[in-house]
Parts: sequence; C-alpha cells; structure tokens
Amino acid sequence: MAVAQAVLSAYENALGQFDRAARYIKLEAGMYDILRACKRELTTHFPVRMDDGAIRVFTGYRIQHNLARGPAKGGIRYYPKVNLDEVRALAMWMTWKCAVVNIPFGGAKGGVACDAKSMSLAELERLTRRFTSEISLLLGPERDILAPDMYTNAQVMGWMMDTYSMNKGYSVPGVVTGKPLSIGGSRGRVDATGRGCFYIIMEAARVLDLDLLSSTVSVQGFGNAGISVASRMHELGSKVIAVSDSSGGVINQRGLNIRELIRHKTETGSVVGFPDTESCSPTDVLEIPCDVLIPAAMENQVTGDNAERVRAKLVAECANGPLTLEADDILHEKGVFLLPDILANAGGVVVSYFEWVQNLQELFWKEDHIHQQLREIMSGAFARVYEKAQLLDVDMRTAAMAVAISTVQEATMMRGIFP
Ligand code: NAD
Repeated sequence: MAVAQAVLSAYENALGQFDRAARYIKLEAGMYDILRACKRELTTHFPVRMDDGAIRVFTGYRIQHNLARGPAKGGIRYYPKVNLDEVRALAMWMTWKCAVVNIPFGGAKGGVACDAKSMSLAELERLTRRFTSEISLLLGPERDILAPDMYTNAQVMGWMMDTYSMNKGYSVPGVVTGKPLSIGGSRGRVDATGRGCFYIIMEAARVLDLDLLSSTVSVQGFGNAGISVASRMHELGSKVIAVSDSSGGVINQRGLNIRELIRHKTETGSVVGFPDTESCSPTDVLEIPCDVLIPAAMENQVTGDNAERVRAKLVAECANGPLTLEADDILHEKGVFLLPDILANAGGVVVSYFEWVQNLQELFWKEDHIHQQLREIMSGAFARVYEKAQLLDVDMRTAAMAVAISTVQEATMMRGIFP
C-alpha cells in the first residue's frame, strides 16, 4: 500500500517545481543557486493599537525574490497563517509569472499574520499604515510595487499608497497597484486575475477540443479571483455547478446563478445557505465530477491525499500553489490537463503592470483597450508555454517554469555578476 507523503511547505513545493524544470534547461555556472535564492527578506514585528485600547504586536514580511528583469512586484496578504516560507514561495512564483507573461518586473510578495475578518476597519487601517511604514525602505515605483492578495483589497491599497505618499510629501500612485479608480487605479484591475484565467481556459479548451458551452465547472474560493473567473464562465454559458469559500460549499447540478450567488455572499458573508443547493465542505468541490476545476483559494489544496479523487478534465490554478508536486504527478498520470498558476493567474499582474504604466505616464486607458491587451498577452503566453510543452514532451507546469527560468537566466547573464 502506498504511504501518503507529508505535505511539503509552499516553499519546498516551489523549489521542487524549479528543480523539475531545471532538468530541461542548460543552467550556466552559479545560476542554480542564484535563481533559487530570495534576494531580500524583511521580517518586521510591529505594534498596533486595537479599538479597545490594547496594543498588539503583529508580524509581517516583504520578500523580494529576483530583480534581474525589473522592479519587485507582488501582492500583500493578511491571513493568520502567513509565514516566511509561504511568502518566499509566493515571491518566487511572482518572478516566474512576470517572466512567463514577459512583463518587466521581478518577483516579490508580502503579508501580515492577522485575522483580517475579525478586525474593525479602523484597526485594519492602523495595521496597514504601520506595516507600510515598516517596509517602506524597500518600496518605490522603481523599486518595489505592492498589490492586493488574499484578504486585502482596493481600500487597503489606497491606505498603502497614502501612507507611502505622506512620508514622501507628494502623491506616488505608482508604488501600489489595485488602487481605487479615484486615486489612480486602472479600469479592469479588479477582475483581471479571473478574466486572465478565463482567457487561458479558453485557449486550453481550443487545443483540447473541449466545448466550454456544454461544460461543467467547479470553483474553490469565492473571493476576488474566484468570483471573477466564475462570473466569466457563467456569462459564457458554462454550468458552474459547485462553489465554496472558507465557511463551506454549495452544489447545484443544474448550474448556480453566479450573479445571485455574489449577492447572497455580499449579504450573508458566505456562499453557504444559497437557496436550491446542496451543502458541502470547502474542499468537497475539488472532488466533484466536472469538466473544469478551478482552485481559487490558497496553497496545498490538492495533495497526494485527494488528487486521485479529482474528476475534472482540466484544472486551472487561479490560486497560487493549490497543487502539490505529488498531486501534479497523480493528475498527470490520470491525463488531466493542468494550467499552472504562473500562467493561469497572471492576469492580475499584467493589469497591475498596465496600472503602473498609466501611473507613470499619467494617462489612463479605456477598459476595452485593457481587456484587449490582457487577452493578447495571455494568449501569447499560453502559445509559448504550450509550444514548449510539446517540444520537451512535458506537462504545462514544467513547460511554463522552463520558459520562465530561461527568461530570467538570460536577463541575469546579460546584466552580469556585480562587481
Ligand atoms: P480573497 O481574499 O479575495 O478570496 C479568497 C477566497 O478563498 C475567499 O472566498 C475565502 O473564503 C476562500 N477560502 C479561503 N480558504 C478556503 C478554503 N480552505 N476552502 C475554500 N475557500 C477558501 O483572495 P483572492 O485575491 O481572490 O486570492 C485567492 C487566490 O488567488 C490566492 O491564492 C492568491 O494568491 C491568488 N491570486 C490572487 C490575485 C489577485 O489579483 N487578487 C492574483 C493572482 C493570484
């Protein structure tokens, strides 16, 4: 009987993915160590005054993985279990993601270990402003640019931009993306991650000859990314039959009305209890028979323990790192077509790049233009990765990683080793 392996940390998983792809690339001397290491790691313990007058000390991180191709770019998450290893993995994935879609950024990520859902708006603002000040020595539109991630949103980005600007003495919109429109945000940013994932799913459906109009879809995670991709699939005519969030899941084999489900979640705080549905656990939706499975919640959701029970033809990683290496192997053996995170959820950073460019130019683009540019970049990236997968005869993750590592290696070689 096969013994289930312990689930690796997100960072161990990211390094394992690197090693698999590195076998297919000629790495020059020193490159293996350079590309696996995180360049800068900042940990900060900082006090925040809570509404009841108590002072609590929080721990936060900002990690820059690799800056060979441009300024550091990556989101900030607020989540109780945020830790150094998780942020390292997420920073590394950002480097590869920016390289796969060929935008001129390096990779970074950050986070604060906190339960944002249980904090008041005023507490969140104080935490955000203090954390931004703590990491501001790394930040700047040419140095390191922040963005939203789990449990952070446009409002949090607005506070971050304001805090950095207050300390500078003038407005610096380009230090943060995912801001509200009124302070220099971009049209099309809020739903960019899900929309980009949708474009990649359409490309995959074309090469797999999968008719999305008659397809069934299951989505784990109903936040920014999950809502957007579920909405696009629903609008296209696919049947979204199962959706979950951290409180639970809902199933309706006839298809869920996503617009109504968003309303229900906004009013009640969860998808749970949506009328005419069967209830399930947050992870049951990963095992429901469907054509397209979209993990859009967090890391390590499909592992050696449950991958065998995944019954989808196509898995699109809208979340970062939802599949472990062991799950990759099992799904590959089962013939499941995998769209890896660094390709499938890159739409967010692509439109963040558009926002940054608009901020630097102080000139704003129309939404149609943004959707069209996003689609072009996502389709181009899919084509490059698919071609590499065919050439090397490997899965799409290994191919995407090979494209990304080669791109970052080339930039590093062209710059040379300082001094
Ligand atoms: P979010 O906070 O808006 O939403 C997260 C959702 O996941 C919530 O609905 C939450 O209830 C749900 N969730 C949490 N734990 C769960 C569990 N165990 N089972 C089921 N659902 C669970 O966050 P988001 O910005 O949508 O990010 C989701 C994922 O997408 C993360 O992995 C993030 O790194 C990735 N991502 C986000 C962006 C972006 O632009 N927001 C870009 C790229 C990747």
